[in-house]
Amino acid sequence: MIVLGAGLAGLRAAIHLREKGYQVEVLEKLGEPGGMARSHEKSGFIFDHGPHGFMSRDQWINEEFEEVVAGQGGWYGLTKWSQIHYRQQYFNFPLKMRDIILKMDPFTLAATFVAFVWARLRVMITKRAPANAEDYLVDQFGRVLYNEFFGPYTKKVWAIEPRELDADFTRDRVPTLNLWDIIRRMFSDPAKDQYRMTPSGRVITHDLHAGYYPKRGARALPIGYFEKAKRLGVTFRFKVELDGIDLESRRLAARENAQPVTLPFDRVVSTIPLDVLVPLLAPPAPAEIGELAQGLRYRGIILVNLCLSRPQVIQPHWVYFTDRLFNRISEYRHFSRDLAPPGKTGICLELGATANDELWTASDAEIVRHCVLELEELDLVKPSEVLDHLVIREPNAYPLYDVGYQDRINRLVTWLEQTAGIVTAGRQGRFLYINQDAAIKSGFEAGEAAARLVETGSVGDRPVWGDQRPRRKIVV
Ligand SMILES: Cc1cc2nc3c(=O)[nH]c(=O)nc-3n(C[C@H](O)[C@H](O)[C@H](O)COP(=O)(O)OP(=O)(O)OC[C@H]3O[C@@H](n4cnc5c(N)ncnc54)[C@H](O)[C@@H]3O)c2cc1C
Repeated sequence: MIVLGAGLAGLRAAIHLREKGYQVEVLEKLGEPGGMARSHEKSGFIFDHGPHGFMSRDQWINEEFEEVVAGQGGWYGLTKWSQIHYRQQYFNFPLKMRDIILKMDPFTLAATFVAFVWARLRVMITKRAPANAEDYLVDQFGRVLYNEFFGPYTKKVWAIEPRELDADFTRDRVPTLNLWDIIRRMFSDPAKDQYRMTPSGRVITHDLHAGYYPKRGARALPIGYFEKAKRLGVTFRFKVELDGIDLESRRLAARENAQPVTLPFDRVVSTIPLDVLVPLLAPPAPAEIGELAQGLRYRGIILVNLCLSRPQVIQPHWVYFTDRLFNRISEYRHFSRDLAPPGKTGICLELGATANDELWTASDAEIVRHCVLELEELDLVKPSEVLDHLVIREPNAYPLYDVGYQDRINRLVTWLEQTAGIVTAGRQGRFLYINQDAAIKSGFEAGEAAARLVETGSVGDRPVWGDQRPRRKIVV
């Protein structure tokens, strides 16, 4: 079996297939495993590829996390704490009544409340299903908060109008500020709250507040899986450039460290981007499939990591902004105190950008200069406190769920799996806006499907969306 990509999904698929007795080889274009869950070092500071808390509702995944990370320095418990910066004030998120009363002026509070009640009543009476992200956010929060915060925030992060984004994406991932929940939770026991699921069968992630963070940074998890895979006998090739996948002769052509190699395979599990995979296939995919793959859109991210001489910058893990160059600031010491030298701190600023746009192509020095100026304006950091920086550009950070995406992805993935016989997994491999736990689950399920394909000639029923989580406990 060949697995393309050594991120969490690829690593977990490889382990599962090896445990089932298959010979497994993993091909990775970078020089190290981990994909988006890897970490980077600079001047004695450790930064993730964007801050990575680990939260899962699945017991087997939490147990697996503990086992895998135990050998990589262990973990700290993580109780998420976020704030939003709104009208020059910091509001805890989800909102606390005390914050609202102390920080919002009575006029805004009244207008927000009336708009919220009106929006909720309208949904109850009309029972309308939101057609897009704007509808969804207005239904949830009312027009005032949409106009003031959620509309601008969503547009800033994704660079398209919220009405062009699918409502399902918003339900899943935009950090919502659901006043109805706030009121309900003032009177209810949070421990007894039912988990809320999106239509795609996923737990609404911002309801997950407790989880883990590896003491040595997010990379401890993929490195733990990598070590486990090697112990089991999985082989790895790094710095691999893929040239072609011949589905008839079942041979994959590539260059490893610039040297050509041809690798025979029985089946391929792919966790690499769909628009990279499809053009590699021979015989070529039908034109419609090629167009679907090339039509996928991603939103990139620029991570501006700063090494600072001061001990602390913000209080919570994350603060969200609508009116700054960056969308979010996070501070790593709140995840693990072991990620910065004593008395110093590392922060990450996340800037939404799209590959080759004006921001993307600006120099690192220019981007850092602007960010530090804004931090100074916010009275958070002085330029003299910046010891060093590390700017990272990730072009495929976020799959862009524009309206109608579900049908397109379904057709593409179904063709790959049912016709071409290539099993797909993970955030890039299936164009899913998922977190680490779901990438792990997706890898495990892909391993099952690939084995099924070999044994029965079919991957079986594999909907792209839906609650596919395995129920049994798996020990790694
Ligand atoms: C900024 C940011 C913040 C995040 N924060 C969190 C968080 O707080 N909590 C959380 O749980 N998750 C978070 N995530 C999501 C998490 O990182 C991903 O869900 C997970 O790492 C995806 O794993 P994957 O294996 O599916 O994909 P990837 O990690 O993308 O793995 C794909 C692999 O394929 C390789 N590859 C690509 N092209 C080729 C090719 N042509 N040939 C060979 N190999 C190739 C890549 O190098 C990569 O190693 C965040 C992601 C981002 C971008």
